[in-house]
Amino acid sequence: MADATRPLPSLADPDTAPFWQATKSHELRFQVCDDCDAVVFYPRRHCTSCLGSALSWKVSAGAGEIYSFSVVQLSRHPFFGQKVPYAVALIDLDEGFRILSNVVGVDDPVAQLRVGQRVALEWEDHDEVAIPLFHPA
Ligand SMILES: [Zn+2]
Repeated sequence: MADATRPLPSLADPDTAPFWQATKSHELRFQVCDDCDAVVFYPRRHCTSCLGSALSWKVSAGAGEIYSFSVVQLSRHPFFGQKVPYAVALIDLDEGFRILSNVVGVDDPVAQLRVGQRVALEWEDHDEVAIPLFHPA
């Protein structure tokens, strides 16, 4: 049996395609509203604060902290099953948005991760996209 591969996002969605296309260049993009300066993430057509449609893309520096996390100990998915135990985390980026991702680079996420811990961005490269992941800073 071939090695299982990560399920990857669709590039067909017009709202999120610019985000995923930028990952190929290792850019973690988010949006800022031109009218009210609200930070918008995940990518959308409208500002979540004022409902305006004038949104500009910005690039995150990739630094943040763990807002919360859970450790997956058992997965029946062919790809994720070989990764256990792994941390699924909500990461608060310094630019003011929150992303759901994994914190990697630790052997025992229960013992080695904590809420508020600083993390830094890294990339898992694929043909069409790169997946943003985080590791302890
Ligand atoms: Zn707005």
